[in-house]
Amino acid sequence: MAALVAAGRGRRTLLLEKNQRPGLKILVSGGGRCNLTTTLAGSELEAQFGARAGRWLRHALRSFPPVALRQLVEDAGVPLREEDLQKIFPVSQKARDVLDALLRVAAAADVQLRHAAPLRALVREGQQFVATVPQGELHAASVVLATGGVSYPKTGATGDGYAFCRAFGHTITRTVPALAPLVVEVPWVQALQGIVLEAAELSVLDEHGKVVRSRRRPILFTHQGLSGPAPMDLSGDIEERPGGATLRFDFAPDVRAEQLEQQWLEQTRSHGRAAVASLLPRTLPERLRATLCALAGVAGTLAELGREQRRRLLLLVKDLRLPVAKSRGFDHAEVTRGGIALAEVDPRTMQSRLVPGLYVCGELLDVDGPIGGFNFQAAFATGRLAGLHA
Ligand SMILES: Cc1cc2nc3c(=O)[nH]c(=O)nc-3n(C[C@H](O)[C@H](O)[C@H](O)COP(=O)(O)OP(=O)(O)OC[C@H]3O[C@@H](n4cnc5c(N)ncnc54)[C@H](O)[C@@H]3O)c2cc1C
Repeated sequence: MAALVAAGRGRRTLLLEKNQRPGLKILVSGGGRCNLTTTLAGSELEAQFGARAGRWLRHALRSFPPVALRQLVEDAGVPLREEDLQKIFPVSQKARDVLDALLRVAAAADVQLRHAAPLRALVREGQQFVATVPQGELHAASVVLATGGVSYPKTGATGDGYAFCRAFGHTITRTVPALAPLVVEVPWVQALQGIVLEAAELSVLDEHGKVVRSRRRPILFTHQGLSGPAPMDLSGDIEERPGGATLRFDFAPDVRAEQLEQQWLEQTRSHGRAAVASLLPRTLPERLRATLCALAGVAGTLAELGREQRRRLLLLVKDLRLPVAKSRGFDHAEVTRGGIALAEVDPRTMQSRLVPGLYVCGELLDVDGPIGGFNFQAAFATGRLAGLHA
């Protein structure tokens, strides 16, 4: 994006890509379908990145909102459509179409693309930058670093940009994997592998039991722990905390605990001979209902259920807590949390505040969003600003 916008302004633009092919992350995105962006806009969109980064991104996102990104890709011949949770995908369901469209626009703007050309070193000499690639030295008036983070390193994102920026005096905030599946070595969790929960609420609690973030999105139980949108969205908050954090499940998020207990008491009076598991929300898969009863140590009929047992079951349904130490790490993370400190980059141009002529954009920055097309949106919007000013 940065290259095609810069070239579109008439700048002689060379795009260095270390892989044999550009845009591998676009190809693997959204399960090969590329969740390009979102229908959210304005402050709702900015809020997805958290208060601090959302404020910093405001200019980039308002000057190139999701509708503008959609327009660019559609004008390049790729029809898009909205799916669940405000997500935008190509109608063809092929990430390759998005990548090809961007490459077509870049070629039309006269971007020269050099692949298998990893940037090895970058220094400033007088008014120029000298970039070293295996093929030799290159000279440039301005440089845009768009080398990504360190997640999914097999796609080429190996953190090279951090080293270049650090050498220029930039601060790199702590990087942790985000949007990664969680490792939970608890037998009952692993025994539930294959189950998908649609209607539960998952929260990360801090050491004082305060909610850090909650998600009401699908949860997938796997042989390694938990995956799917809700656990992945929360993984960065767990990784950020030394030693991990506590996850809380609320399996009946639409009803308060007292109301639920009241309903259970009425059910017990009217259907005393029903099995205890019949108290649990019907939205929960059978195997999970059985597991919750086993964890609460309850069995038999409603009439046999004592007050203490009922309370134990209620606690598990509304407030089941699970310590989680880590995610599956950068190899499985869709995004890197942390990166180049935002205070050192001008949010209106993406120019480094320390090095004139150096621009930084995309995931390399200390910006990350949840699942839903937000990370591409931020990368493309910041890339465009860099391309407009470099
Ligand atoms: C499996 C997966 C699925 C995802 N799905 C989605 C999704 O559906 N929607 C969404 O919004 N986001 C998704 N993301 C996140 C999104 O892909 C990234 O946030 C986004 O690609 C970041 O863009 P970027 O240009 O900053 O970095 P990248 O896309 O990582 O691009 C960096 C490029 O720089 C190159 N490079 C690195 N170092 C050098 C060097 N020294 N010299 C030359 N080139 C170099 C790399 O090879 C790479 O091509 C997904 C991520 C993954 C891993």
